[in-house]
Formats: sequence, structure tokens, C-alpha cells
Amino acid sequence: MSRTKEIIELDERYGAHNYHPLPVVLSRAEGPWVWDVEGKRYLDCLSAYSAVNQGHRHPRIVQALKDQLDVLDLTSRAFHNDRMGEFLNKLCEYTGFGSALPMNTGAEAVETSIKLARRWAYRKKGVPKDKAEIIVCCENFHGRTTTIVGMSTDPDAYSDFGPFTPGFKIVPFNDARALDEAITDNTAAFLVEPIQGEAGVKVPDPGYLSCVRRVCSEKNVLLMFDEVQTGFCRTGKRFAWMHEDARPDVLVVGKALGGGLYPVSGVLADREIMDVFTPGSHGSTFGGNPMASAVGLASIQVLEDERLDERAERLGERFMDALRAIGSPKVKEVRGKGLLVALELKEEAGPARPYCYKLIEEGILAKDTHAQTIRFAPPLVVGADVLDSAAGAIGRVLA
Ligand SMILES: *Cc1c(COP(=O)(O)O)cnc(C)c1O
Repeated sequence: MSRTKEIIELDERYGAHNYHPLPVVLSRAEGPWVWDVEGKRYLDCLSAYSAVNQGHRHPRIVQALKDQLDVLDLTSRAFHNDRMGEFLNKLCEYTGFGSALPMNTGAEAVETSIKLARRWAYRKKGVPKDKAEIIVCCENFHGRTTTIVGMSTDPDAYSDFGPFTPGFKIVPFNDARALDEAITDNTAAFLVEPIQGEAGVKVPDPGYLSCVRRVCSEKNVLLMFDEVQTGFCRTGKRFAWMHEDARPDVLVVGKALGGGLYPVSGVLADREIMDVFTPGSHGSTFGGNPMASAVGLASIQVLEDERLDERAERLGERFMDALRAIGSPKVKEVRGKGLLVALELKEEAGPARPYCYKLIEEGILAKDTHAQTIRFAPPLVVGADVLDSAAGAIGRVLA
């Protein structure tokens, strides 16, 4: 039996079956490349759902973690450590917010934003006790906790996990009017992804983000962008909201903040909002720990020094042009922003997954999101020539 088969069997036998991975077993990675246990090389077009924007094992981020491991490990937040402040300072500078609350995973950061919005509603806006509402969008993806799946519209995500946390309302995405009409005196916040990644890279119409910004300002509702997937240069700007005049009140980040090496997430807000959190009201044993802080700091420095925002913008245009130039009758649409790209197949082309298998043969790892869509989101350090040949391979697979 091949090593690939053996390892997959172990995963199947001992692991919970909550994923359906493509049948590739990876054992090495560098930059935009990953290798399987048989030695075959692939272009990583998923980047761990955009957690590896800086490329696999970026030398500066690896070094920062190694250096940290030699001097200080976990302290908990019961004491200060000598790394967190510098990290949060950089994170605030980079995002343009006054304060940051470090967590570990994206879902935890989203949970943090929900608690922040509710407390703000009671303590600042004057919403009556336990009446706060948070508005979210159809086809949202914000993570996997019970509260978060309770506001999901995807039956795979929520079925048989109830009863759920009350206090959420759902409106269509890309419809500022629907948001406006859903807001009441008890609305605390509107939580939304500026581009819906898991829904299949749904890019809203131009003007939507600035319009929801206006609506939230007028109605004294917090605008909270979940940029766990779209943040840190993926869409061609530092954050996807920066494509419009739409600065949120609360920014939720994760994934690429850990440079592919360590789970690092956080919530950003200005001081007067963040200060509704008081000692004892929220926390995390691992949040802001020295390794996370060292990795988070280096991850941002790499994004900045290597101008990965501009790179994503340039390469994204080029890659989408190349995909459109394929001109396959099977393709319904190529869409995206920066290097967050989706290729949607027509109904009659059949489901996306068999195409992903064909792409594996061509040395490209890409994942289907929803039945008809393949997402392409390579590390932002990928070479233009590499992307050109990937587009060629995608063309062959579609032929
Ligand atoms: C991945 C993701 C999350 C959840 O992050 P985890 O680290 O998996 O908990 C939340 N929001 C968005 C938009 C995501 O893409």
C-alpha cells in the first residue's frame, strides 16, 4: 500500500470525520509550494483558507518564532510579557485602530466581537437588558462555535446543534436597504464579511460597503467587518474594506496574522468602544502569548516590507485576466478581488470537485466551495510566471 493510502487510512480510522479532504498527504512546504509524501510538488491555491498569505515557512516569521522559543514561552495574561505590547502596537498601527484584543482563532475573535457589541449596546447605547440584536448576512461564514453556527444559514453548519443563542437577525448580503429596514432601536451591530469567502467569493457591488457604513453611522449601530479571510493583503489592500470609504467600528482578524505558523487572531476597535471590556469580563489563556506576539509582529512586517498588498492587486488582475482568456464554455464567471479568486462553473459542467481532482494531476491544489465553484487563493508571494502556468493548467483541465 502506498504511504499516501496508509496515512489517509489512519486519519480515517482515528480522526473524527468532520472534513472531506482531497486525497493528498502533504509533508513539506516552502513559499507557494507544497510537496506530498510521494515527492510530488503542488502549487498551493488554497493557502489554508488565506492563513498563509506570506507563503509557507517564511524565513523571517520562522526565525521570529525560533528566537522566541529560546527565551520565553507561555506566561498567561495574569502577568505581562515583554512581547505583547510591541505586537499590539504594530497591529494597531497597521490597521489604524486605537486598541486590540488578542485571541487565537478566528471564531474566538468573532465571539469576542459579539460580546463587545452587546456590552457596548447596553452600556453606551442604552439598549434594555438582554434585548440587543446583531444583524448578520445570508450565507455568512464566521466560524464554528455554537453561537456562530446558530446565526449561519447553511444547514450543514447548523443542523442538530441547537438550541442556539438568540439575538441574531439575518438579511441578504449586498443589500444595504434590507439592512436599513432590519435595524431597530435595539440593534447593536451589523457583522459582515466585506467579501463572502466561504460562500464562494461573493464580491458585493461597488458602493455596498460605504453604504452600510453610512447606514450604521446614521442609526448608531456598530459596523463590524469579519476580515479573518479577506484581511492582510489578500484582496489587494491591507483590508478589503479599504477598497471603499467604509472604515468599520470593529475589525475582526485572524488567519494570516499567524503567518501560517501559529494561531493568532484579534479584535480591533477604538478605545471608547474597547473599554466596555473590563478586567474579568473576557480573556484567553493563550491570547497574546509570547510566541503569538512574535509571530504576529513578524507576519505584519513581512506583509509591509514585501508590499504584498500591491503584489496581490497586480497578480490578481493578471490571473483573473488569464482565467477569463481561457474562454471555456463551462465557465459561468470568474470573479474576485486581488488574489481571492473564484471560478464558477455552469450547471451543465457538473460539480466542481472532479475538476479539483484533475487539478491535482496538474500539480495544483484548489478546493471546491459549494458545488459549482473553485477558489484560487495562492500565497501572495507566488511568482507571476507560476500563476501564468497555473492558468494554463486550469485551461487544460477545463478543455
Ligand atoms: C476562517 C474564518 C473564520 C474562523 O476562523 P477559525 O480560525 O477557523 O476559527 C471566521 N470568519 C471568516 C470570514 C473565516 O474565513
